[in-house]
Amino acid sequence: MEIDDHPYGDVLRKEMMPNIWCSGCRIGRIKNVFIESIQQLGYDPDKCSVVSGIGCSSRIAGYLNLDTIHATHGRAIPTALGVKLANPELNVCVMGGDGDILGIGGNHFLALGRHGHDVNVYCMNNYGYSMTGFQHGPTTPLGARTVTTSGGNPYSPVNPVAVALAVGYTFVARSTSGHPYHLIDCMVSAMKNRGPSFIEILVPCMLYERRNKIKSLEALFLEKAEIKETMSKEDIDQGDFMKRISLGIFRDAPIRERSPLSFVKSTKKAAAKKFNIRFKPRASGIKYMQIRMEGTGGQGIVQGGKTMLLAAMNMDPKLNSTLTKRYGPEMKGGSCVTDMLLSNQSVDYPFVAVPDLLLMMSDIVAKERDNEVIINDKGTIVVDESMVDLSLLDNLPKTVKVFKVPATQIARENFRVVVANNVLMGFVCKVTSIIDKNCLKAAILKSAPPGTEEMNLAAFESGYKFKSS
Ligand code: SF4
Repeated sequence: MEIDDHPYGDVLRKEMMPNIWCSGCRIGRIKNVFIESIQQLGYDPDKCSVVSGIGCSSRIAGYLNLDTIHATHGRAIPTALGVKLANPELNVCVMGGDGDILGIGGNHFLALGRHGHDVNVYCMNNYGYSMTGFQHGPTTPLGARTVTTSGGNPYSPVNPVAVALAVGYTFVARSTSGHPYHLIDCMVSAMKNRGPSFIEILVPCMLYERRNKIKSLEALFLEKAEIKETMSKEDIDQGDFMKRISLGIFRDAPIRERSPLSFVKSTKKAAAKKFNIRFKPRASGIKYMQIRMEGTGGQGIVQGGKTMLLAAMNMDPKLNSTLTKRYGPEMKGGSCVTDMLLSNQSVDYPFVAVPDLLLMMSDIVAKERDNEVIINDKGTIVVDESMVDLSLLDNLPKTVKVFKVPATQIARENFRVVVANNVLMGFVCKVTSIIDKNCLKAAILKSAPPGTEEMNLAAFESGYKFKSS
């Protein structure tokens, strides 16, 4: 039969065929069950989105002619959540394996149940990482042989249904690839449920069968499984699937009451209006400029760099720019460097070798370099004299311009120490004239936390007005 004539042809990406699954694998059947379910529900394919991670089961997303995302390993659930939040009208489904959803993405699986968003998770449990040759995973049965447990798995498996119930999924079911009509019922009910839904779907993997000398897992599922109307604690516990498998719906509850998501309203536009800062973009004339800001973690070295670059872009949108930052593992209190490049050409290498302009907020970086201050012979240094040992500057070439401002002292006495970087920036703006004043003020306004705009701008103005000796 040509794919165009197939009843599911519209929902399949024929250019992706044939599929990659082993002959005898049942993942393809789950794909068909899913298509049947959305067709039964009458979903418009444009209103249905499938997100998957990595693995054999996750390949389903590639074969469905819907809006699909093949996300990174373990990240299908947060990606799906992003889709749902962006467009709540969509029916969003995650399809993946036990390794992807319960192993690598395990924490996202827990979080979705707790947070209560309307996303459907269909987890194909084949008891291990099949795509990479069958390593053991979170659901590998005790004693099972895999590539990484050749003597038998010594770890107790996770029970996906029990975990889903515990963390608050509002729909929880178990089915198998050998029970397609039961699985369609489960999927249809899951998609009707308005909370987070989870279905564990047992799927045979040829690699598991081979290693564990099982002739046909599907035959075993059909023999041992019982579809139940009401579920007991024993049915949740599941136990040894070689002896007994309980299928059915464990929970189909209305969505829990929870506060609606509220987005924090940005105050940036209102602040810009209140302070009425206007600027006119212009050609800066900058060809290639290397700027470095260095100091101690916690002094706003990275934030200061971002503000300067934003200001440069405000002034001359045609400039190319890069920002790189370095700080030690201790972060707060350790050395911190932000490098900025401004160029009228494209930038190939984003690090500053020898800065033309150096903003020194402390001397920690120079001291780590055996007291060496790196600056272009014709460059400019603006130094926070309340924080820097000025003797470090004694041996600089006479051609280097040095400006001193007690930025931290000014900030401490008039505002708060945290705005010392803006005091320094105000002073830099005045003595170098590289970036227009209002372009910098607009950039500060954009990066200042709500409620602190006035203080940050006042700190900038105090640096701008400071007269260096
Ligand atoms: S490795 Fe296992 S799960 Fe993957 S396609 Fe083959 S049979 Fe299916």
